[in-house]
Amino acid sequence: MFDAAETKRENSRVSTYLFRVVLVVLKYQLLINGEWVNSESGETYQRVNPAEPDEVLGEFQKGNAVDVEKAVGAAEDACEGWAETPAPKRAEYLYKAAQLLTQQKEELSRTMTLEMGKTLADARADVQEAIDVAYCAAAEGRRLLGHTTPSEKKDKFAYTVRLPIGVAGLISPWNFPIAIPARKVFYALVCGNTAVLKPASDTPICATRLAQVLEQAGVPKGVVNLVTGPGESAGMALVKDKRVRVVSFTGSKETGATILREAGIKRVNLELGGKNPVIVMDDADLNLAVNGVLWGGYETTGQRCTAASRVIILEEVKETFERMLLEQVRKLRLGNGLNADVDVGPLVNKAAQDKVSRYCEIGLSEGAKLLAGGHVPANLKGWFFEPTLFTDCKREMRIAQEEIFGPVVCLFSAENLEDAISLVNSVDYGLSSSIYTNNFRNAFVAINKLQTGLTYVNSPTIGSEAHLPFGGVKHSGTTREGGPDGTAEFTELKTVYIDYSGKLQKAFLD
Ligand code: NDP
Repeated sequence: MFDAAETKRENSRVSTYLFRVVLVVLKYQLLINGEWVNSESGETYQRVNPAEPDEVLGEFQKGNAVDVEKAVGAAEDACEGWAETPAPKRAEYLYKAAQLLTQQKEELSRTMTLEMGKTLADARADVQEAIDVAYCAAAEGRRLLGHTTPSEKKDKFAYTVRLPIGVAGLISPWNFPIAIPARKVFYALVCGNTAVLKPASDTPICATRLAQVLEQAGVPKGVVNLVTGPGESAGMALVKDKRVRVVSFTGSKETGATILREAGIKRVNLELGGKNPVIVMDDADLNLAVNGVLWGGYETTGQRCTAASRVIILEEVKETFERMLLEQVRKLRLGNGLNADVDVGPLVNKAAQDKVSRYCEIGLSEGAKLLAGGHVPANLKGWFFEPTLFTDCKREMRIAQEEIFGPVVCLFSAENLEDAISLVNSVDYGLSSSIYTNNFRNAFVAINKLQTGLTYVNSPTIGSEAHLPFGGVKHSGTTREGGPDGTAEFTELKTVYIDYSGKLQKAFLD
C-alpha cells in the first residue's frame, strides 16, 4: 500500500486514524498485477483533510495512460482463470472481504472522515453499506439467475445463462468512497469479470484500503487492479481501452456524457447526478416531513446524488412548514466530522466551496429569498459552507434545475398534487423523489407519475438498501446497481438452444 522508504518527510504532517501526530507523509502506490508500484511517470499528488486543509494526508501516484495500459493488461491476463472459477467460489472471496471490512470498520470510518469530511456516523454507514453489498454480491454467486422457457419446437430446449463480460473499467466518485467502489468491484467480481478501479482523486486512501482488503481476502493477482490519477488522463485511458469490455461509472452527468461519447462500442453503465424533490402535501405529518428534509438535504453536507435539494410544498401548509424547517436548519452544527456533536461536515474541496458560493449568488440574483446560510463561515478554516435555505424558488431558476451538490435546499410552492408533479418532472435529472402524505391515493399517483428511479413515501430521498436496485432515469443514469438486478450490469446474457430431435427444425417456417 505504501512505500516505507519514502515515508519520512521532515516537517510534514499526517493525520492517522488513531492519533494525530505530525511526522510523516505516507506514500501510496498503484496495485497492478498483485504488486504495489509507483506510477510510470514518478509523478505524485497530495490530498489534505477538508476540515483542516493544512493537514496533508498522504502522497498518491498520479497514474497515467501507461499505468492504465499495464493494469488493463494484468486484468486481461487474469480474465480466463477468474471466469473459470465457479461463481460460488468467487463469492467466498467476497464473504471474506465482508468479514475484513467488519473488523476494520472503525478505522476505515475515521480514515474516511479525515479524507473527505463526512461525519463519523455517516462514514460508518458508508462502510456498513460496503459490508452489506459484499454479502449481497456474494449471495449472487449461488444464483446468477438465467431462465428456462419452453421452445416452440418439439424436442428442443431453450435457456439463458449469465456469462462474464471481461475486463471491467470502474470509475468512482469521492462522496461514498468505500460503498460505491465496493458496489462496483464486488458485483464485477462475482459475475466473473476482472477489474481496474480508478477512484476519485479526492479519496485515494479509501480506495487503496478497499483494494488491500481484497488482497487480504486472497483474490488472485491481476483480478483487481487500482490506478489512482486524474480522471481526464487515467480515467479516460481506461474508458477508451478496447480491452475494457464494460465501463461502470458513477459521477457527474457532464463526465458521464463525455464517457458515453468516447467509450466506443462497449457496455457503459452510468450512475449520475440528481436534483431530488420532496413533495409535502397538505395532509402530511409536517414534523415527519421536516425531519426528512433535514436528513435528506443536509446529511453528508448535501453531497449525495440523492440529496433532497427541492422541497415542493402545498400552498396551504407552506408558511407553517417553512417556519418549522427554518427553526431546525438554524440548529444544525457545522464542524469537523470527527466531533460527535457535529451535524454537517466540510465540503470536499475548495472548488466545491466556490461552486456552492456561486450558486447562492445566482439564487439571489434570480430572485430567490435566502432564509438561512448562504455563506462560507468566517470562524472555520476548512472548506465549510453554512446550511442554506432558499424560498420562493421558481422552476426556471438555475438553482431549481442544476445540481449544486452542497448544503442548499430550495423551497417551492404548488397549488395541488398535479402542479407539484409537473414541477418535479421539469428538470433533466430523475434519480430520487419523495412524497409526504397520509392519503394513499396521493401516494400512488405520485409513485406512478414521478419521473425518478426511486420514490420514497413518508421518508427522505436518501436511504437506499443494498439488496434493492439503485439508479436513475433521464439524465440521472442508464443502469441499476445492487441486488439480483445488479448482475445485469456485469454479465452477458447468452441464449442457448439445444435441439435433441435429430432433424432440422426451421424457426418461423415449420
Ligand atoms: P466527477 O464526474 O467529477 O468524477 C467522478 C469520477 O470520474 C472521478 O473518479 C473522476 O476522476 C473521474 N473523471 C473525471 N473526468 C473524467 C474523464 N474525462 N474521463 C474519465 N473519468 C473522469 O464527479 P464527482 O467525483 O465530483 O462526484 C460527484 C457527482 O457524482 C455528482 O454529480 C453526484 O450526483 C454523482 N453521484 C452519483 C451517484 C449515483 O449513484 N447516481 C452516487 C454518487 C455521486 P478525478 O477525481 O480524478 O477527477
